[in-house]
Amino acid sequence: MTTEPITVLGAGVMGVGITTLLAAHGLPVRLVDTAPEKLTQAPGRIRQELRMAQLMGALPPGREQGEVTPHSDVAAVRGARLVIEAITEDTDLKKAVLSEVSALISPGTPMISNTSSIPIDELADAVRRPADLIGTHFMNPPALIGTTEVIRGARTSEATLDAVRGLLREVGRRPVVVRDAPGFVTSRLLHPMINDAARVVQEGTASAEDVDALMQGCLGHPTGPLRTADLIGIDNLVDSLWVLLKRTGDEGCRPCDLLLQKVADGHHGRKTGHGFYTYEESTI
Ligand code: NAD
Repeated sequence: MTTEPITVLGAGVMGVGITTLLAAHGLPVRLVDTAPEKLTQAPGRIRQELRMAQLMGALPPGREQGEVTPHSDVAAVRGARLVIEAITEDTDLKKAVLSEVSALISPGTPMISNTSSIPIDELADAVRRPADLIGTHFMNPPALIGTTEVIRGARTSEATLDAVRGLLREVGRRPVVVRDAPGFVTSRLLHPMINDAARVVQEGTASAEDVDALMQGCLGHPTGPLRTADLIGIDNLVDSLWVLLKRTGDEGCRPCDLLLQKVADGHHGRKTGHGFYTYEESTI
């Protein structure tokens, strides 16, 4: 195990969650975001996620926490042990940032994208060394979800895959390695299903509460698809559905009007306090 920090790019829902998981396992993290308010909010949100994970018994007891330092510049990737990109689900933006990162780090430093849907090999076109790029699809909240989908791109090296397996072992996650494709396994299955659940509400067949109650009570879905949409972030879900539609042509991936309306209204789910449900300030 090395003590060089891991740099996490993006202090949104996932960047904060991944940072929480790493820090809870004693790993130092540099957390980077271009939005100053995200960096200001991050320590409080990390404390809250840590408290929740500890209450649920999901973290190793008695482990000294890794230091988390905030940064506003991507140059914070220099000298990192590895880099985890968790910025907005926008292909051009991710390509631009990963390209910049790959020019700043030394060869062999693993670059991990936490994209929900964009094929890794497509992102690899933007970096200097495609062999160093891999996908790890941490899900929200990373400290509570014990399994992580790992996406091996066509050009990802064995060394990069080994490094990611090692990291996941260190933080107590079980990797499941899959081949590269739009949405991989989890988003390819989950996101169109959530879109359909929203369409059912849009068509007036049932309320969001009743859709979730049926999916939980009859089909064993842990939280219900629409509560999951709120947890993911409806803006992020819609971005991911567009990525899937564009690359698969599957019309089931076209975001339904209700999802688009919620994004336009700023009702992005838990992170904005409103989505399919309303959240108290203290639980956001
Ligand atoms: P988010 O909108 O909550 O956060 C994205 C963050 O990236 C924002 O804070 C934004 O300011 C920051 N950002 C944008 N450009 C940047 C740049 N150039 N440098 C540094 N920071 C920048 O999004 P999120 O939900 O955290 O999603 C992040 C990634 O993780 C996306 O690719 C998403 O598809 C994926 N993902 C999300 C979930 C989920 O449940 N939300 C689950 C798995 C994967």
